[in-house]
Amino acid sequence: MDILSIKETDIYQIVEGRKQRESDDFQQVDQRVEEIVKRIRSEGEKAVLQYVKELDGVELNSLHVTKQEVEEAFNSVKEELSEILQEAKNNIESYHQHQKEQSWYTNQQPGIWLGQQVTPIERVGVYVPGGKAAYPSTVLMNVIPAKVAGVEEIIVTTPVGEDRKVNPLTIVAATIAGADQILKVGGAHGIATLAYGTENFKAVNKITGPGNAYVARAKKYVFGDVGIDMIAGPSEVCILADENAYSEYVAADLLAQAEHDELASAILVTDSHQLATQVQKALKEQMEGLNRQSILQHSILNQSAIYVVTNMDVGFQLVNELAPEHLELLVDQPFEQLSRIKNAGAIFLGEYSPEPLGDYWAGPNHTLPTSGTAKFSSPLGVYDFMKKSSVIYYDQKALNSVGGKIQRFANEEGLDGHAASIRKRLKKMLDIFSN
Ligand code: NAD
Repeated sequence: MDILSIKETDIYQIVEGRKQRESDDFQQVDQRVEEIVKRIRSEGEKAVLQYVKELDGVELNSLHVTKQEVEEAFNSVKEELSEILQEAKNNIESYHQHQKEQSWYTNQQPGIWLGQQVTPIERVGVYVPGGKAAYPSTVLMNVIPAKVAGVEEIIVTTPVGEDRKVNPLTIVAATIAGADQILKVGGAHGIATLAYGTENFKAVNKITGPGNAYVARAKKYVFGDVGIDMIAGPSEVCILADENAYSEYVAADLLAQAEHDELASAILVTDSHQLATQVQKALKEQMEGLNRQSILQHSILNQSAIYVVTNMDVGFQLVNELAPEHLELLVDQPFEQLSRIKNAGAIFLGEYSPEPLGDYWAGPNHTLPTSGTAKFSSPLGVYDFMKKSSVIYYDQKALNSVGGKIQRFANEEGLDGHAASIRKRLKKMLDIFSN
């Protein structure tokens, strides 16, 4: 991995350069996605089953995982692993409990009540990738906040394997997290099924969860008919480290991120040349011992970098401009430096809080804004599964006291129907007073 010396005036160029790496051409994927979604929307389950046959090579009679398959999954997964999932679930649940929002009402003037009613979304679909690997952590991180929000029905969908089954770990995690149904449909056909429903499956109101390009583009396509969480880009870590950081830990954490996929990026920002060269050496040594060689080669060589900044002020500035998905703060007194971070999806403080701790265990959500979107968005949370309604109440006297002004306002906008709606009530008031 290259070591690049950076001064304040280079920051803009670096950030713009990194944005370029994601301008993929999705034209072909988009055409395919549109065809799949339109067909499923008009033809329903028959089309879904045909796509499962064509794209996943499996003939299914039903889209649903059965109770018996859930039992088989629990029998096939080692009890120790189920217990670990259960413990992770408890941590994630207790963290997300803090995010619950309450309805509120205020009565600042006599006869007037104003408020905000918070209501869970009724039906949510969670996409769980399953093409190349199983991601039980994704199941927990999506289903649990929905459950805490009070969503009535949570449906997990994931690709079916060649054995006509869903990965048992996905089933166990979905059941532990409290999902109500599991469907055996992946890809754009899974997203279309969730978004538009079939004869045997009622459409959801919102879809969350990551996936490959077909999943991501399908989510973008159905957005508007249903809500979506975000379109996640390739995963990233940025480590801001001073001269006292331990190079072996820094290298290990960069590799942990880089192994996700070829486009994943791992960036070290430091003011220490010595640390930079130590990390460069450690990366080479540690990489040899890891399994995902070809992915690592690609992401470390093409997507990652070590930036040596003139001082830590420039380091903080660069980090805030990159707005990374994951940020590790490996500096002295990290809590004291925390307020200098303005943009990051998740911030890991100190050398004993490595990023994988957040992926699986600590409790905060691992679904985070990528590609610099942490400048304006937040981790997936309970709030993504709740919506708000404004509540307005005026009694007769309160309306009467402001009715003239509202009519004036409405007439100014040329909306005499609005004015009349108020006037009729004021007239009624006058009638009451004159009797
Ligand atoms: P996937 O479940 O996203 O996709 C598999 C589905 O795509 C299958 O159903 C398959 O039929 C369909 N598909 C494949 N090729 C197709 C084609 N040519 N036309 C139409 N449909 C096609 O699983 P995956 O492919 O293994 O990808 C998983 C992705 O999710 C990876 O990119 C991984 O990095 C990402 N991921 C992200 C997170 C996160 O939190 N951000 C977590 C886990 C996984």
